[in-house]
Amino acid sequence: MIVSAALLSAVAVARVITGLLLPRRQDRNAGRLEIFYEIGAFAYSSLCGLLGAEAIYYHLGTGASVLLVANAIGYGAMIAARNAGRPAIAIGQTLLANIPVIVAGLLRRDGTMHFLALSVAMAIPAAMAITLNTFGVLRDSIATAETSRRLAEKMQHLARTDVVTGLLNRAGLNHQLVQRMAQLGSRDKLALFWLDLDRFKEVNDTLGHQVGDRLLAEVASRLTARAPEGACVARFGGDEFIIACEVADRRETETLASGLLEAITRPIRIDDARLEIGSSIGIAILPDDGADLETVMQGADLALYHAKVNGRKQASFFAPSMTRNLVRRKEIESELRLALQRDELSVFFQPIIDLSTGRIRAFEALVRWFHPDKGELRPDEFIPVAEETGAIITLGNWITTQAARCAASWPAEVTVAVNLSPLQIRAPGAALGILNALREARLDPHRLELEITETVLLDQSETTEAFISELADVGVRFALDDFGTGYSSLSYLNKYPFSKIKVDRSFVSGVSAGMKSEAIIRAVSGMASTLGMDVVAEGLETVEQVEAVKAAGCTLGQGFYFSRAMPDYLATMLLAQERQESPRPLRA
Ligand code: C2E
Ligand code: MG
Ligand code: MG
Repeated sequence: MIVSAALLSAVAVARVITGLLLPRRQDRNAGRLEIFYEIGAFAYSSLCGLLGAEAIYYHLGTGASVLLVANAIGYGAMIAARNAGRPAIAIGQTLLANIPVIVAGLLRRDGTMHFLALSVAMAIPAAMAITLNTFGVLRDSIATAETSRRLAEKMQHLARTDVVTGLLNRAGLNHQLVQRMAQLGSRDKLALFWLDLDRFKEVNDTLGHQVGDRLLAEVASRLTARAPEGACVARFGGDEFIIACEVADRRETETLASGLLEAITRPIRIDDARLEIGSSIGIAILPDDGADLETVMQGADLALYHAKVNGRKQASFFAPSMTRNLVRRKEIESELRLALQRDELSVFFQPIIDLSTGRIRAFEALVRWFHPDKGELRPDEFIPVAEETGAIITLGNWITTQAARCAASWPAEVTVAVNLSPLQIRAPGAALGILNALREARLDPHRLELEITETVLLDQSETTEAFISELADVGVRFALDDFGTGYSSLSYLNKYPFSKIKVDRSFVSGVSAGMKSEAIIRAVSGMASTLGMDVVAEGLETVEQVEAVKAAGCTLGQGFYFSRAMPDYLATMLLAQERQESPRPLRA
């Protein structure tokens, strides 16, 4: 018995020591550990049972017997629950702790002992039931936890993926970038390429969203194929994509950018359509352009804006001056609303000349902002800001009213042209704003011409169509501005009641040099004359250009060669002078 007790103590001490030491030995394989544990567990249970059995068999004192038997039976019951996670071990241990006691009880010729053996034997199935039930509960709750973990993982994956392209979405990109940042060494550079597809909206609007989605998916797969291995490629909403990857230096970044540009510029075929879509890219590098992610993202965004303004299909690196431009933009934004009240805005007028008679046929109203500190601001700088902030509605109505008032004092055959931004047309009550301006100035609607660009017509919205037909019905005329810069689709000329096509300056400046420009102007003029429309050549600066556009069939001309835009009183004076000197033409 002493031997058994000593063995039990030795096993107990050994198990405690190994229990304390083993968890630190991570390299041990789990299988060996388990066998080790099982041997210890079975040895300890057998020895517990053996001691209990010996106490009964050798008639040990009542106190010691009760203690040892209770220890064996108690251990057997306790372990049934404790090790229920591994039922084979738990049941094995219960049997090993109890069977020796039962056998010893049966071997004694004593009814009480037989009764004890019977009770212990009857407790075994109960202990086994506890093991199996607890095991069942444990198994079910582990399975449930596993299912909800898998579900959570799936939801998280979905929340971080863009459905159209399968790329990371905004949330996914943020998550990945934060992880990358944590792994970045102090000498590593992370380049962010922010891409925006040029003219994607036009494709989406003209060919439908399904084609738009397929185009995005194709762009996504081209970008993924072209991006370096391990790069994060994400769609950042709409037609914007972001690629983030580690780079060695600026040269490598440039090469990557031109590779990405090339990949997108290659024509894309979707069903029967052959789409040529370019992209602008803004690039910022961490840590050169900012120490944290937010700053670098802002830098790439600013650089992208710069690339777009500078003529698209190009990549721009972030430069600190861009932040200054942004500051200026913000200033313009906050000061624009006040500018009207402070009387800082004026409408100037640039004459549009009849190329056959040399007489003024119309004036184009061009807004000017004379800022007390910043000097003269060009409309190209503040009109986009007015569009973004919505101030264009008030500003546009004010311009139309001013222009109509001035025109009312001119001779009846001279018209006034006012530029409309797309947002102005889409605003509720847009036509009413124009009609009010006409009524207030008492100007005949025939003498007002609204210049709109092709982008306004691309979305083919009912609002635009209603706006045009409502005003055309009362006699207001329409001119297609900046023709030749966008899709240059001639189909609009048939569909809408245009009385003029204004061929863009970029075309005209090439007319004396390039045969192609001339041929195009000739074709447009031919078509316009059949439809009874005028063709205005914009941006005429030299006599050669005037001669060339005239020869190509343009009926009207506008540009610095004739006159720059001037204040209203000068326009009125010029008209008066022309009438006095009539029929002598202004120039040309
Ligand atoms: P736009 O409608 O094409 O106007 C013609 C622009 O070309 C004017 O610039 C005019 O000053 C300029 N220009 C005229 N002749 C010549 C020339 O011979 N050479 C050169 N280099 N330029 C010439 P501006 O006034 O800076 O206006 C720029 C653009 O801003 C306009 O282009 C128009 O799209 C927009 N804009 C101007 N005023 C308004 C306005 O009142 N409302 C709206 N919505 N947009 C306006
Ligand atoms: Mg115009
Ligand atoms: Mg124009």
